[in-house]
Amino acid sequence: MGNLSLHSLEGSLMARRKKIYEGKAKILYEGPEAGTIVQYFKDDATAFNAEKKDVIDGKGVLNNRLSEYFMNGLNQIGVPTHFIRRLNMREQLVRSCEIVPLEVIVRNYAAGSMSKRLGIAEGTQLPRPIVEYCYKDDSLGDPLVTEEHIAAFGWASQQDMDDILSLALRVNDFMSGIMLAVGIRLVDFKIEIGRVFEGDYQRLIVADEISPDSCRLWDIESGQKLDKDVFRRDLGNLTDAYSEVARRLGVLPKSNVTKPTLIN
Ligand code: UDP
Repeated sequence: MGNLSLHSLEGSLMARRKKIYEGKAKILYEGPEAGTIVQYFKDDATAFNAEKKDVIDGKGVLNNRLSEYFMNGLNQIGVPTHFIRRLNMREQLVRSCEIVPLEVIVRNYAAGSMSKRLGIAEGTQLPRPIVEYCYKDDSLGDPLVTEEHIAAFGWASQQDMDDILSLALRVNDFMSGIMLAVGIRLVDFKIEIGRVFEGDYQRLIVADEISPDSCRLWDIESGQKLDKDVFRRDLGNLTDAYSEVARRLGVLPKSNVTKPTLIN
C-alpha cells in the first residue's frame, strides 16, 4: 500500500473516532473500551506558551516510542502509569484518568526557569533533587505554586501530595539511571499525574507523556542538548536530537539513523 492510501486510511479511521481533547502536542480520542483513551502524538512543537510554533517531521513518532519505553519501564518497576500499549507509529492506548491540574517538575541540575528565577548558572548540580509544582493553566502561563496553594484551592489533598512526591522521586531515580547508562544527564523533567478510581478507592498514576519534550537531557561528555531546548533556543535539528536519545536507548536501530524508523 502506498503512503498516500495509508494516510487516507489512517485519516478515515481517525475521523470515525470521537476526539476528546486536542492539546499542543497530542490529541486524545475515545478508546476502544470503557476506561481507555487513545493518545495520538502530533509533530507540532510549541514553546514559550505557544508563542513559538513549528511542525517537526517525525517528532510525534519518536515521542510515542520514547514515552512507551519510559512508561513501560516504570510499570515494570512498580511505578504505576497510564500506559497500556502502543497501537501504531503515532498512537498508544492509555488508561483514562482525571488529570491533577499540576505540572510536577523535578530538577537535579539548575536550568531554565529555575536558573532565571534564582540566578543559579545553568548546569549547577543541586544539593538534592528539588520538586516544584506549577498550576496547569495556559492563560496564566502555568505559574509556580506552593503546597499551600494546592491544599487551599483543593487541587490535591495532603495524602495526594505525599503520593505525588514519592512518584516524582521514583520517576527521577529511574529516568536518571537509564539516562546515565547511555551517557545522558537528566537535568530536569516534568510529569503529570492522573487520578483513577477503583471502586471506592482512588489511585494516582503517572500520566500524559515522558519524552524529550518534557525533559532536559544533556550529553554527559559534550554537554550537547538532546531535548526540546534545541527547538526553544534554535540549536539545530530537533528530530536528530530525539533520534540520538532513541538510538542510545536501543529504541531505534544502532545504525546512523536520522529518520525515525521503528524496529518493529
Ligand atoms: N516543562 C514541560 N512543560 C512545561 C514547562 C516545563 O515539559 O509546560 C519541562 C521542561 O521541558 C523542563 C522542565 O519541565 O524539562 C523544567 O522547565 P522550566 O520550569 O525550566 O521551564 P522552561 O525553562 O522550559 O520555561
